[in-house]
Amino acid sequence: MIEHVAEFPALTIIRHPLVQHKLTILRDQRTQTKHFKELVDEISMLMAYEATADLSIEPRAVETPLERTDGWHISGKKLTVVPILRAGLGMVEGILRLVPSARVGHIGLYRNHDTLEPVDYYFKVPSETAERDFLVLDPMLATGGSAVSAVNALKKAGAERIRFLCIVAAPEGVRRLTTAHPEVQIYAAALDRQLNSVGYILPGLGDAGDRLFGTR
Ligand code: URA
Repeated sequence: MIEHVAEFPALTIIRHPLVQHKLTILRDQRTQTKHFKELVDEISMLMAYEATADLSIEPRAVETPLERTDGWHISGKKLTVVPILRAGLGMVEGILRLVPSARVGHIGLYRNHDTLEPVDYYFKVPSETAERDFLVLDPMLATGGSAVSAVNALKKAGAERIRFLCIVAAPEGVRRLTTAHPEVQIYAAALDRQLNSVGYILPGLGDAGDRLFGTR
C-alpha cells in the first residue's frame, strides 16, 4: 500500500486503492467544490492513517466489564497538525477525525505570482514545540517554496520532529524540500510529472485552494 522512489528516500507514496480512486475523482475537472472538499477530507484521513503508522505506543492496562487486560496507548509526543493556509485547511478535519486529541497550528503563506516565492503573513502553533510531532499539511507540494518556509518557521519556533503531508507532489518540490530539510518525511498520494511555467503541477488537479473554496 506504500511505495518508495529510489530518487527520493524521504518520500512515501500512499498507493492504497481508496486513496488512488478518490484522487482520480479529485483530479477530474468536472468535480465540483462540495465533492472536491469531501474528497480532500477523506484522502487526508486515509493518508494520515499511514503517516501515523510509526507513532510510538506504550502498554496501558484496561478494565473490560469482565476483567483487566493489556492494551496500548499512544505515547510520547503530542501530534500537532499545521495546515499551510489556505488549501491546507481542507485537510485538517479528516485528520482530526482520526486523531481527535491533535492540536492545530496555522502557517499563513502565499505565493508571489511573479517570483513564485512564498511570503509569510501568519504563524501560530501551540507552545512546547520541542515536545510535539508536527504534521505540516498542504495538498500540493509544487515548487517546495512554501513547504521549506513552513518547516523553517517551525524549526525556528523549536520544532524537532516534522513530517509533511500532501496529496500531489511534484519532483521539483520534493527535491527542494529534501535538500533543505533531509530529515523531513514526506507523504503523498501521487508524485506527478513536473511543474508548468507558472508553478502548477502537471497533470495535477489545478488550484487546490480555488477548487476547495469555490473561488476564481
Ligand atoms: N498550488 C496548487 O493549488 N496547484 C498547483 O498545481 C500548484 C500549486
